Amino acid sequence: MKNQDVADIFERMGTLLEIKGEIVFKTRAYYKAAETIAGLPEDIETLRKENRLTGIPGIGQALAEKISQYLDTGRMQAYEELIKEVPEGLLDVVHVPSIGPKKAKLFFDQLKVKSVADLREAVDAGKLSGLPGIQEKTVENIRRGLKIVREGQERMNLGAATQVADEFVAALKKLPEVKEIAAAGSLRRGRETVRDIDILINSVNPQRVMDVFVRLPQVKSVNAHGETRSSVLTRNNVQVDIRVVEPKSFGAALLYFTGSKDFNIKLRQIAIKKEMKVSEYGVFSVKGGRERMLAGKTEAGCFKALGLPYVPPEMREDFGEEEYFARERFPALVELKDIQGDLHVHSTWSDGHNTIAQMAEAARAKGYKYLAVSDHSPRLRVAGGVSPEDLKKKKKEIDALNAKMKDFHILFGAEVEIDSDGNLDYNNAVLSEFDFLIAAIHSGFEQSSEQLTKRLVKVCQNKYVHTIAHPTGVHLGKRGPYHFDFSEVCKAAVDNNVCLEINAFPVRLDLNGANVYHARKHGVKFVIDTDAHRVEHMDYMKFGVTTARRGWLTKGDVLNTLSYPELTKAMKK
Ligand SMILES: [Zn+2]
Ligand SMILES: [Zn+2]
Repeated sequence: MKNQDVADIFERMGTLLEIKGEIVFKTRAYYKAAETIAGLPEDIETLRKENRLTGIPGIGQALAEKISQYLDTGRMQAYEELIKEVPEGLLDVVHVPSIGPKKAKLFFDQLKVKSVADLREAVDAGKLSGLPGIQEKTVENIRRGLKIVREGQERMNLGAATQVADEFVAALKKLPEVKEIAAAGSLRRGRETVRDIDILINSVNPQRVMDVFVRLPQVKSVNAHGETRSSVLTRNNVQVDIRVVEPKSFGAALLYFTGSKDFNIKLRQIAIKKEMKVSEYGVFSVKGGRERMLAGKTEAGCFKALGLPYVPPEMREDFGEEEYFARERFPALVELKDIQGDLHVHSTWSDGHNTIAQMAEAARAKGYKYLAVSDHSPRLRVAGGVSPEDLKKKKKEIDALNAKMKDFHILFGAEVEIDSDGNLDYNNAVLSEFDFLIAAIHSGFEQSSEQLTKRLVKVCQNKYVHTIAHPTGVHLGKRGPYHFDFSEVCKAAVDNNVCLEINAFPVRLDLNGANVYHARKHGVKFVIDTDAHRVEHMDYMKFGVTTARRGWLTKGDVLNTLSYPELTKAMKK
């Protein structure tokens, strides 16, 4: 299907025309067309064949001709003419956080900035200051935006990394020579972003494994092809390294290559105190100058030989291990199977792709007991926020579905906008109707730390609110967290029985592991939600659980591990 390709090119044209200074009416037509085509249930090539392109809402004769031309030739003349006037590189400039079409145009006109690299140069050379409307603070924001872009290029999010690793692992697992296989590194620790993929294999025939690996179809180029180690670049420029080790050392190697570096240092220090040595080959006793292997086959065996409890990979960072080691028994971390429901998903009532019934069916298929359908409120117009009148209809639809289902409950929810003063987007009469209420900030990130803190604290004090969605506002590769006093908000959340969300959507992962660890110390309770906008997104729950584990959460810390009756009780203020 070429639907997405056509949508992308129209989206780009809209942006380029906006930079060019074209009238809003014209740019909007392209954006609208892009959105419609991306969401078409039918193949655009079929529509073309059957002469039905102009039947698509918002597609007139002129746009239909452009689509046909693109489908026939793979090119669009109007687009190619446009990029002669407005360089394509400006599309990347526009997407640098805090830039947008107006500033991109200004920098292009005044400084001939045609790419992100040009922009970086202009910022470093101090050329931005003095331009109309550009203050010192603007430059500072742009500088920060450029940093986020760079990080986004160097590191992928956990979701993207998992997908790459899963493909390689699945392909190599098929080989009879492969006895055990696991992704190690920061991916195994569940870090929010990952630089490259490390895969570890237990096999007695490394050469065969290497030969297959470097020839896999997803490989673009081979950096190294050795006897027990190889390194490749995928078509999306992700570096994937594999390493084959002997069975007797597989556990030790997995421990070593999972890291983190700081965690490994800590283990080595502990080993030295006990007259032991730990390396990628095993755990050894070095008593009396004689080296004797104690463990190496399994990770668990290595920890045991060192006299330590097993540390889950997500906890192997340089914070708080002493607390963990000192305890006789550490409560088990929360697991995916503990999750009883998803409390933040969208439906066709706002910007979701699937109906409430479809979302509920998918949730039931996962073994969940409940689902809160939390569509946007009216202020978020781009996301089709639900009006108070439509809420009545939505509630009726949910009641009807609930009446038909046994052992499953759909909660009438909302993701309500927090305005710049910390007020919510519906009045109290409307708010009191919801079973589950999520409050969220989607705009006004630029406020001062005091203002943002006040805003969030005020929301915690609102008696209708159950949780705060994506509490720091981070958007990986796009936007950093907004500035506020996190401890202050944690305290307000605890005082008012409000949960903080761990948003499992891969570009968010907000709160992140470090935030969760910190908030837990304040006594905060959490919900782990996917923020699914379509059925498949509900699979992101695993990333949220990983993030919770990185913050040391147990089942008891997470609201949506409760049964339905327990949940309704816990939600009471
Ligand atoms: Zn949101
Ligand atoms: Zn949402």
